[in-house]
Amino acid sequence: MKRSLALVLGLWLSCAAGASAQVTAIKAGRLLDPQAGAVLNDQIILVRDNKIEAVGKGLSIPAGAKVVDLSQMTVLPGLIDCHTHLADVSDENGDPFTLLKKTAAEVAFESVPNARTFLREGFTTVRDVGVYRALNDVAMRDAIAHGYIEGPRMYVAGAYVTITGGAGAMTGFAPDITLPWDLRYGEANSPWEVRQRIRQLVHDGADHIKVLSSGAVLTHGSNPKSQEFTLEELQAAVDEAAHFGLRVESHAHSPEGIKNAIRAGVASIEHATMIDDEGIALAKQHGTYLDMDIYDEECIQEAGRLGKIPKDFLQHDAELGELHRNNFRKAVKAGVKLSFGTDAGVCPYDRSVKQFAFMVRYGMTPMQAIQSATTNAADLLGHADVVGDIKPGKFADVIAVAGDPLQDISVLEHVQFVMKDGKVYKQ
Ligand SMILES: [Zn+2]
Repeated sequence: MKRSLALVLGLWLSCAAGASAQVTAIKAGRLLDPQAGAVLNDQIILVRDNKIEAVGKGLSIPAGAKVVDLSQMTVLPGLIDCHTHLADVSDENGDPFTLLKKTAAEVAFESVPNARTFLREGFTTVRDVGVYRALNDVAMRDAIAHGYIEGPRMYVAGAYVTITGGAGAMTGFAPDITLPWDLRYGEANSPWEVRQRIRQLVHDGADHIKVLSSGAVLTHGSNPKSQEFTLEELQAAVDEAAHFGLRVESHAHSPEGIKNAIRAGVASIEHATMIDDEGIALAKQHGTYLDMDIYDEECIQEAGRLGKIPKDFLQHDAELGELHRNNFRKAVKAGVKLSFGTDAGVCPYDRSVKQFAFMVRYGMTPMQAIQSATTNAADLLGHADVVGDIKPGKFADVIAVAGDPLQDISVLEHVQFVMKDGKVYKQ
């Protein structure tokens, strides 16, 4: 009796939901399909609630549907950035150390505009790859999902899994200073400590795992040319994450740090700055994505000229910028899988879109650059079933630009329409 009542109630509720569903019809003058690598003319996109219901030419528009006229524009799937730090405030002097002057709550509230800016630039999904204040990103993801604040759909790392004093650690303070728990959360120094950290991260809500297998540019006392973690520790990370269905991304600048992580089976290498020929061959063989943030050098050098970055960071960065871009060109030529990741937070949050033009300048076709931020990114995230292109059943994440990005990729720097989850945020 109880069961049949529940059934009737369920049916009634689903009918009621059907009756009140919001239907939107988007008229797309040109629709870019990154999966097919093609552009279709005069398409209608039907959106029901937060999902794409149908796409095609000459579809009939249901009575009562809201019509969005983008017939003079190029319509694309919402963009995906696979390497962001939305929940960390970028400081005026570029030193992570100054985070110690703020409470975790201050950092969280001050990060709210980052997410809004990012969404309005056209990024409807991000893979956020770490915070100093552990789990602030989990809180931001959930606040966006609940509609408390505006931002992209977030898949978050929760913290940095790093060796003590490593690339993802807060460093530069005296040895007798003890940091609060959240700034030490991801430290691990053996395969079993790596596993323990990952178990905790999974329990605390992480969607993927970020490890760091080389030193960093923007960390005190670090050397980007070094190697961090052993192969055994990285294998433990990939294996433990897999127990929970999670993927691992590894920050790596140095050739050995890159190759160790690929051999361990990570899903992507972040930066891949000094990748050598063997590394490129390994990435290709393993199907590992490279997430190369080749625009950032502009911001690092600019901050250097303005004296807004610590001197040791600039020394770490010396000569890496051009090498990074040339290695990107090699990777494109070799046919390695590439995803769009900007390390947003290094550059201001409204400048990630500028990376597209650099990717084209360093060897990609405009379509490849767009695929890196749509279908490839969705594949890397393991969520190609819901994001990455405009197909029935996927989330209604739609953007539009004036002009043709295949002729001039820089039009992506001026996204004029943003819909995420069926809701319009910019028009
Ligand atoms: Zn980063």
